[in-house]
Amino acid sequence: MNNQIYSFPLPQNEPVKGYLKGSAERIALEAELERQSKIEIEVPLIIGGKEIRTGNTGKVVMPHNHKHVLATYHKAGEKEVQMAIDAAMEARKVWSETPWTTRAAIILKIADLVAGKYRALVNASTMLGQSKNIFQAEIDSACELVDFLRYNCAFASQIYSIQPKSAYGQINSTEYRPLEGFVFALSPFNFTSIASNLSMTPVLMGNVAVWKPSTTAILSNYYLMKIYKEAGLPDGVVNFIPGSGATIGKVIMASKDLAGIHFTGSSATFNTLWTQVGDNIANYKTYPRLVGETGGKDFIFVHPSADVKAVVHAAFTGAFEFQGQKCSAASRMYAPKSLWPSILEGIKAFAAEVKMGDVADPMNFINAVIDETSFDNIASYIEYAKSASDAKIVVGGGYDKSVGYFVQPTVIETTNPQFKSIKEEIFGPVLTVYVYDDDKLEETVRFCDETSPYGLTGSVFGQDRLAVEKITSDLRYAAGNFYVNDRPTGAVVGMQPFGGSRASGTNDKAGGPFNLIRWVLPRVIKETLVPPTDYRYGYMK
Ligand code: NAD
Repeated sequence: MNNQIYSFPLPQNEPVKGYLKGSAERIALEAELERQSKIEIEVPLIIGGKEIRTGNTGKVVMPHNHKHVLATYHKAGEKEVQMAIDAAMEARKVWSETPWTTRAAIILKIADLVAGKYRALVNASTMLGQSKNIFQAEIDSACELVDFLRYNCAFASQIYSIQPKSAYGQINSTEYRPLEGFVFALSPFNFTSIASNLSMTPVLMGNVAVWKPSTTAILSNYYLMKIYKEAGLPDGVVNFIPGSGATIGKVIMASKDLAGIHFTGSSATFNTLWTQVGDNIANYKTYPRLVGETGGKDFIFVHPSADVKAVVHAAFTGAFEFQGQKCSAASRMYAPKSLWPSILEGIKAFAAEVKMGDVADPMNFINAVIDETSFDNIASYIEYAKSASDAKIVVGGGYDKSVGYFVQPTVIETTNPQFKSIKEEIFGPVLTVYVYDDDKLEETVRFCDETSPYGLTGSVFGQDRLAVEKITSDLRYAAGNFYVNDRPTGAVVGMQPFGGSRASGTNDKAGGPFNLIRWVLPRVIKETLVPPTDYRYGYMK
């Protein structure tokens, strides 16, 4: 019917707004924070576009003020999970046949709604429900979320245009079919943008999704569903089912129509999912695509030639912004003895200055960690370090959950390169530092490479460019996103596609074109224009 060739060029990244006092965006955000703080909403399941209330409920609270309830949400039981699968499969009939440019138009409208009309709504709900300060919410729930949506349309256009060669007498083409089933999108608490991207990327490529949000990110995630609807996403294309991962996972894994899992979260959860898929492998119609971005133990390696001030900034902000709850947060550092005293002094100076508290006060650089389980886990690592003979707390070490789940920015210094907190992901504001003898550089680079099972992000600091090159090369498999003279966090869509290997995931690079290819089944079609009619080759005549 239509014969237009559309153009979806690479977009500009959504500009990060400044929120200066008196600015329009600051006034709108503060009003929205106040509005959401005064109400308690009810969050239903959304299946096939219908709101479902199961009566089995949980509470959404502010992590920084956990007595303050923001919402009551309904949890899916096994029956509702099956309903969500059925609704997705029904919606698939139309969605998988919808022209991709129409799908892209809806995705781009979602981006525009978030960038404009609903920017304050998504940012405020992310701030209150996930305890992010203004900047952390802005770069996540506004900018990164919008960038994922806009860039993906350009990447999809690139993928669809990859076509085989044709010769005289034939026409060859590749059709990028959506997967034959539904995609299970399973999102973490820490990024609203990731929660959106996990279903929206497959959806752009013509798939339908059953989406289980994290129970500690339900407020912002629920508002996204409303925005999807306003943008024209048909009912059933994304089905929203909060609830227990184990209950939901069981029904999903048993479905013959499971065609893919798009996951971001801990390595332990991804291992469970992978094992469950393996146990059910004979039952599926198609081999499910498993895409998982998981945990990290992200490092900063400091060469003796490094600029101390740059290291201090990277270590402090890289480890403690959003309370260290970014998969890419710096959580271990290797520092030479010659520089360590001045690096430590710099970190202490920053730590003495920063304020910690409620997200409503913009002067608070540090807010709360996500929930009590996480708080207790982080505290247990701090206590472990306090009682260890081969480590000491040199910055912070305090924590208090009486009002909110607050943990001070903490630095553990250890003499043991295999110390517990330098190996294991803690997911909190804790940086463990191993101080090495300047003449033991090579051995320390090896520790950095081999100590932890992860391979997500890492960085090297040094002014000696040749030494930096050697370390970069030696740490080739230690990180999927590697930084030189920069902190190991803060990847931007389209600029640093993100993901790691080893125990950090399948490295399918969210924010780049490779991820999209996982959500299609290419079909190659050859058409012969004048088919031959004689079986004999010329030399046989
Ligand atoms: P999580 O693994 O606890 O939860 C992720 C999702 O899985 C949640 O929705 C949860 O409810 C669900 N879930 C948990 N157990 C389940 C089960 N048995 N069956 C089905 N679903 C289950 O992770 P989290 O605490 O929300 O997020 C933090 C983790 O995410 C950290 O390990 C972090 O490194 C990782 N992360 C990685 C990236 C990346 O790009 N590599 C990005 C963000 C977060």
